[in-house]
This record gives sequence, structure tokens and C-alpha cells, in this order.
Amino acid sequence: MPTRGDRHLRAIQLAKQLAELGARLKTIHSITGLPPREVQRLFFADPRTIPRGRAPDSTEWYHNANLILRTDACLIGAKYRQLRGQGLTAGEALVFAYRAYQAATLPPYRISLDRAFNLVSYIDGIWLARTPTLSVLTCPGCGCEFIAAIGTVARSGETCPFCKLIERFPLDHRIQASYPAHPAVESIERQQGLLALFHKLSLDAEGETPAE
Ligand SMILES: [Zn+2]
Repeated sequence: MPTRGDRHLRAIQLAKQLAELGARLKTIHSITGLPPREVQRLFFADPRTIPRGRAPDSTEWYHNANLILRTDACLIGAKYRQLRGQGLTAGEALVFAYRAYQAATLPPYRISLDRAFNLVSYIDGIWLARTPTLSVLTCPGCGCEFIAAIGTVARSGETCPFCKLIERFPLDHRIQASYPAHPAVESIERQQGLLALFHKLSLDAEGETPAE
């Protein structure tokens, strides 16, 4: 049985990881239960380093976001769901899912840790959310996991951002720059390159999972 000391130590370690990933004091407090003052004292000795500005709070953000942001969000959401299924705590799953997302894309990261915190709150119905309003589905078309409003039935092409991404990839330079897949002359090869990339991303992300 973990002692109170063990739990406190784990909370402090988690808070440190969250602070390093750019989380706000309030976010760290919600996840670890540590008082914001203590978090500040331990990890933000220089007040200028405290993350400022309005925290992301919209539940509608995902539905209104552009394709690239939705794809990013799905990478985080799918990884989070998978890690929760493996028995990780919500806080640990968020940290690992966010790191896997960072490993899969290039800085500057389009989704902040606070945004990821907001998203997974609505997937699990915890922290910011009273009940789940988002779920992670598997697309029958491309096999990728994506986020949708709870109650959505998974159909290929309609709600899956990856199907849209694969379709638009050969034509859209912004998407190509966002997800640097292997350059290929033929568009079909590009599509396969992108699928291979996402396959690789999910494998890489698995490598990040701690041995339990
Ligand atoms: Zn799909």
C-alpha cells in the first residue's frame, strides 16, 4: 500500500513534469491536488516564468478547430484513452500522451498542455467536466482513432479527420508542412507515406509508455 508520503511524492513528481510541459498553476493544482502556492514556490521561483493569459475553456473548441488542430487533438486523445485503458492514472496518462504528441510533431506545438488537459477532461468527464461529452472512436475507413461528440457513430470519411487529412494531403501545402511525411512523386505514394507516418507515430508513442 502506498503511504501518504508516497502519494505526496508522486504528486510532486507529476507537478514537476506538468510544469516542464508548460501547464498553468491552476491546471497543475486540478491534476495533482497540490495548492497553487506550493506549486509556485517549488517550480516557479521566478514569477516571470509563470504561464499567464486566459486558460483554454471552450468545450466547443474541438468541433470548430481546423483540420490540423483536430488531427493534433486526436493524436493526444487516442494516446490518452489507450494509456487509461492500460491502468495509468489520468494525470500520468495526460503527461505521457502529451509527450507522445510532442514526439510526433514539430515545435512550436499547436496544442498546449492546458488545451490537452481541457480535451481529456471532456473525454473522461473529470477535472473541468462533470460528464464526458467527447469520445474516442476507431474509424472503419482508415483505422485511425479520432475524437467525436459522444454518441457519434463512427463512419469513414464523414467525421474522421485522418480520412480528410489523407484526402487533402497531396493538395494542401499547409498540411504537408505540418506533418512532414516522406516526399513522394505520386499522390498515392504520399497517402501511403502519411499512413505509414501515423503508424510509426503510434509505435513511437507506445515506446514512451512506462513499464508497469
Ligand atoms: Zn478515417
